[in-house]
Amino acid sequence: MEHVTRIVIIGGGPGGYEAALVAAQLGAEVTIVDRDGLGGAAVLTDCVPSKTLIATAEVMTTFDSSYEELGIVVADGGPTSNARVVGVDLGKVNRRVKRLAVAQSHDITQSVTRAGVTLLRGHGRLEGGQALDGSRGVIVDLVDGETQELRADVVLLATGTHPRELPDAAPDGERILTWTQVYDLDELPDELIVVGSGVTGAEFAGAYQALGSKVTLVSSRDRVLPGEDPDAATVLEDVFRRRGMNVMSRSRAEAARRVGDKVEVTLSDGRVITGSHCLMAVGSIPNSEGLGLDAAGVKTSESGHIKVDRVSRTSAPGVYAAGDCTGVLPLASVAAMQGRIAMYHALGDAVAPLNLKTVSSNVFTDPEIATVGYSAADVECGKMDAVCVKLPLRSNPRAKMQGIRDGFVKLFCRPGTGIVVGGIVVAPRASELIHPISLAVDNNLTVEQVANAFTVYPSVSGSIAEAARQLHVRKRAEGAEGS
Ligand SMILES: Cc1cc2nc3c(=O)[nH]c(=O)nc-3n(C[C@H](O)[C@H](O)[C@H](O)COP(=O)(O)OP(=O)(O)OC[C@H]3O[C@@H](n4cnc5c(N)ncnc54)[C@H](O)[C@@H]3O)c2cc1C
Repeated sequence: MEHVTRIVIIGGGPGGYEAALVAAQLGAEVTIVDRDGLGGAAVLTDCVPSKTLIATAEVMTTFDSSYEELGIVVADGGPTSNARVVGVDLGKVNRRVKRLAVAQSHDITQSVTRAGVTLLRGHGRLEGGQALDGSRGVIVDLVDGETQELRADVVLLATGTHPRELPDAAPDGERILTWTQVYDLDELPDELIVVGSGVTGAEFAGAYQALGSKVTLVSSRDRVLPGEDPDAATVLEDVFRRRGMNVMSRSRAEAARRVGDKVEVTLSDGRVITGSHCLMAVGSIPNSEGLGLDAAGVKTSESGHIKVDRVSRTSAPGVYAAGDCTGVLPLASVAAMQGRIAMYHALGDAVAPLNLKTVSSNVFTDPEIATVGYSAADVECGKMDAVCVKLPLRSNPRAKMQGIRDGFVKLFCRPGTGIVVGGIVVAPRASELIHPISLAVDNNLTVEQVANAFTVYPSVSGSIAEAARQLHVRKRAEGAEGS
């Protein structure tokens, strides 16, 4: 009788459930162990809830920032009044956020179950090393208190991360909050202090400001979004300040404590700032403790992330890992790809190793910042030889019509061949505009090919084609100079 590969997946986020679907399609016997609900943190606390909240914030920003210019008259209050004429019922917004998250988790559970995958609700961990037949044991502490032991030919660890906490700023779930706790608020914070200006901090700071909170963003670095394109980060910081956000650069928060119905945040230079609430967005810690990694021979980095290669193998035979617990690139799309790659590899299917240079990502602020491929930093440090054109959206006809003032399109291509190697779009809905550049990067298209494809007139994507045309001209000029 043919041996059916037994796969046990610990963690049901995008890294785990996408892998389960692939493995089931390829004929394996698959079990997912998850303690919180399918979809993982991505669906229940992080990605889906934050983008649902931001959907409301986006409508508010679009309205607030352009109604006057677009000739919209608001009867009550109006452009000359300081009174806020549009407001938000945060309790209602948050109930919608939670409803959508639970519904999405339910949909995923249905499709995974339909695919024939077994689900176990509980905490899973590896039990020692490999048996003589190559199999491994996984112990599951089920939520009902029972314990179950599974045998697996292949184990995938996809356990994700949890929010990092500062020792002197313990979240209380009421006024000092992590990003997983904000959806329990019924009323909009009057004065929100956001600690951390990475992607998560910037997204929440922008969203709450749009919803109507007075926001202070505490950033330990020179500027917000230190990991992003500097021009893009500058645009965003300027927009934040113009809209009234207090952006405190080079300010490290050391402690946060409740004082009555206020929160005091102490900075490392001794200054104290006060708000009604504080959101801590100071990074994530991998869920790699209590997984039995040492005994199983699975190596981790100093930060506790599980070490993997580009086909998701760990240092232990038969054990793979995917997603945020590996620290490769904390995105749901990357987690899902790592999980699928693990299963293709384990089950002997055709597999291409993970290629991070084709990943597109987005910061969901207003404007959004979408990126793919090589960056300005890669060009600057000599990792990639490329020429670059940056076109401000101010000159784009559609942007003018829509009252869009901030943002740009930046395109990078190889100097000789004109092959597009990267790009950035800073614009409302940039996440929807980056795809043509992703296609170009993924398929080695040249700037001529991008320039020659029709774009709609008028459209913001017209600026992508225009940037490609300008790169073509620049490339020719530089070629002529060189000859
Ligand atoms: C605020 C925020 C917003 C984000 N927005 C985006 C976005 O817009 N786009 C994007 O691409 N990415 C976004 N991300 C990142 C994205 O959420 C992660 O990359 C993604 O969740 C990683 O998926 P994963 O499968 O590795 O882990 P997770 O989604 O964290 O899932 C892991 C699951 O494993 C379970 N688990 C852990 N340990 C065990 C155990 N021992 N036994 C059983 N179960 C266990 C957990 O309970 C959880 O259900 C965001 C992150 C944050 C914090």
